[in-house]
Amino acid sequence: MANTLGIIKPDGVKRKLVGNVISRIERDGLILRGVKVLKLSKDQAQKFYAVHEGKPFYNSLVEFMTSGPIVVMVIGGHDSIDRWRNLMGATDPAKARYNTIRREYGTSIEKNVVHGSDSEATAKTEVAFFFNDDEILPKGI
Ligand code: UDP
Ligand code: MG
Repeated sequence: MANTLGIIKPDGVKRKLVGNVISRIERDGLILRGVKVLKLSKDQAQKFYAVHEGKPFYNSLVEFMTSGPIVVMVIGGHDSIDRWRNLMGATDPAKARYNTIRREYGTSIEKNVVHGSDSEATAKTEVAFFFNDDEILPKGI
């Protein structure tokens, strides 16, 4: 029953896909428990993606993620981590299943519109990266 972190990346915000993505979250029965619009600093983006440090795409990814505003979301509901990942689709939009957000709106393996935590441990640290406990709607409301 853990919450997960979702991000609408700069390409998604620029292309006015925020409403569409949130609409899919709601349609799927997932619950929006927190939301913020912000712009990542270089330092924040480097820290958030620290697990990818040293990979060939790291510097470009940091540049992309700081290129404009993003929307960060706490997404809850039963099995939210896997359900949000399934709704997003595979990292590479060309390989993502039909009807997934990345398949429909992603334009490259980098500019793939959305982020989602990949495990309970990362969900916990990624949610805490952006949200204090009192900024997250508790279960049952
Ligand atoms: N990424 C990229 N090139 C790659 C792999 C990943 O630019 O070859 C970017 C892409 O934006 C991706 C992010 O780095 O969403 C994080 O990569 P990860 O492998 O964690 O994919 P995800 O968990 O987002 O599906
Ligand atoms: Mg990942």
